[in-house]
Amino acid sequence: MLDNVRIVLVNTSDCRNIGSAARAMKTMGLKNLILVDPIEMPNGQAQALSAGASDVLGNAKVVATLKEAIEDCGLVVGTSARSRTLPWPMLEPRRCGKKMVEEGNQYPVALVFGRESSGLTNDELQLCHYHVAIPANPEYSSLNLAMAVQTLSYEIRMNFLEAEEAKFENNKSAVTATAVVDEDGEAKYQLVEETERFYDHFESAMQKTGFIQPKHPGIIMTKVRRLFNRARPDGKELKMLRGILASIDKAAATANKD
Ligand code: SAH
Repeated sequence: MLDNVRIVLVNTSDCRNIGSAARAMKTMGLKNLILVDPIEMPNGQAQALSAGASDVLGNAKVVATLKEAIEDCGLVVGTSARSRTLPWPMLEPRRCGKKMVEEGNQYPVALVFGRESSGLTNDELQLCHYHVAIPANPEYSSLNLAMAVQTLSYEIRMNFLEAEEAKFENNKSAVTATAVVDEDGEAKYQLVEETERFYDHFESAMQKTGFIQPKHPGIIMTKVRRLFNRARPDGKELKMLRGILASIDKAAATANKD
């Protein structure tokens, strides 16, 4: 299950933090590290700080965008030290660990960390299903990047151990792997890649009807994302929504011809 957990570091400027994050991960049994467009590639200093976790560091995958890092994930949680202007579904660290373990039994899940200087952008945060904030000292709430990785990885581990113990004791509340497909073989959950295609389709259909004006799009798509993030439609529901959008496309094309 822990192999399905991915730690994603976005645009990290100091590669020593990447080395320390790798060490933090390995102590908690995590090994999948993805670096999104790191400003400084891991060097000898990063190696030194990773200590015995040089395998995690060495196996880190480097990608250009956050979307690439998470497109095959079924759950994405973004971290933030402060509350944002746009409220988003929040998890506190313990619940975050539980959710990661529960859903990580079924598909890849990602925990996304931001830049040392400015965290994650609003666009990046909107790619996430939930946000998690470590409830630190309100007067000084920003942890060092690798320490935030350590804290949230610890919560994942605690939940993992609890689930393992429950399984061992054959407790009914044990986290068991649930089926990932329904009786027709359709995925019961949606990967980020498919949901992103749905948002693109939604936006283009709404431009055709005139509901979204490309020059003044406002924050409609942000609100749409928040809505569907909350609902988390499954494969069949997303297919139906795509069908609805296709019918809107068709109606708009006919109306524009008239
Ligand atoms: N100045 C930035 C903080 C960046 S700290 C800001 O205001 O957003 C670097 C990263 O560490 C953050 O992007 C986040 O991934 C993580 N982090 C630091 N403190 C955190 C906290 N209290 N809760 C959750 N993540 C935190």
